[in-house]
Amino acid sequence: MKFVEPKVFLVGETRIIEEGLQAYLRHVGAEDWSTDAPSDSERLCEVMGRLCYRSFKPGLNPNVTRVREGNETYLRHILEVGHGSVIEHPVLNFVFADVSRVFTHELVRHRAGTAMSQESLRFVRLDRLSAYCPTHIRENEAGMEIFSRTLEKLEEVQAELARVYAIDDEKQFNVKKKLTSAFRRVAPDGVATTIGWSCNLRSLRHVIEMRTEPSAEEEIRVVFGMVYELVRNRYPSLMGDYEVEMADGLPWVKTAHRKV
Ligand SMILES: Cc1cc2nc3c(=O)[nH]c(=O)nc-3n(C[C@H](O)[C@H](O)[C@H](O)COP(=O)(O)OP(=O)(O)OC[C@H]3O[C@@H](n4cnc5c(N)ncnc54)[C@H](O)[C@@H]3O)c2cc1C
Repeated sequence: MKFVEPKVFLVGETRIIEEGLQAYLRHVGAEDWSTDAPSDSERLCEVMGRLCYRSFKPGLNPNVTRVREGNETYLRHILEVGHGSVIEHPVLNFVFADVSRVFTHELVRHRAGTAMSQESLRFVRLDRLSAYCPTHIRENEAGMEIFSRTLEKLEEVQAELARVYAIDDEKQFNVKKKLTSAFRRVAPDGVATTIGWSCNLRSLRHVIEMRTEPSAEEEIRVVFGMVYELVRNRYPSLMGDYEVEMADGLPWVKTAHRKV
């Protein structure tokens, strides 16, 4: 048994296909349009937003006589007026490792604009158990002793069941799967596992806001504090309105433009 800290890996993000974008801009008569977007994701949001009014430059739509210049200015306005659908276009792909099933149960409640692939504990046998140790447990010697002893016992239970059912000698994968799934029922909710999670940038903002709030559970606050750290400088035009206040030693990421 060992205690682990959650880990966050940003493994993918949206990329613009340059020749496709240039072909569209020629099509609409805006081939000379360019922007100072710091990332493909933010450039894509700007294109999708400007496409709505043909506001790449004045006169392209006779009703448009002036346009906002600059990616940060343009997207700040989108956030202010709450046109959140524009920032649904780019998608980010994360892997969260050494996170508990407590965490994953909470994460998967966020349905809108997300996709997930969770490590299967029907197929992946629990031999060594690892878990996140929350602050209140860590700071109390007696609590820590109970916590550690219980996890060690539950790890022994997994080994005992594996022995009783001789799972290592089992040849049929189907039987192994049934046994592995049965054994996991006596593993703790806090068992560390892995989940792949993708989301669009609108959903990401919503989840960061909800899950770094002091009322959210500690582990998910830790994870989304780390997520925010990874994205704040990567997408400055879309994350620049956030302010961070520390609450219970963890970042609380706040904005005046909630849930755009
Ligand atoms: C501190 C805290 C405590 C919680 N406690 C509990 C609890 O005790 N029990 C419990 O069951 N859950 C609990 N939750 C989970 C919570 O109720 C939500 O299910 C979860 O946070 C997902 O957020 P969301 O509803 O905004 O969904 P998301 O999927 O993140 O959706 C984003 C937004 O899209 C819109 N949307 C999404 N789906 C629909 C839909 N079907 N219809 C209409 N609009 C939609 C809504 O505006 C929604 O806010 C808790 C969450 C937090 C942060």
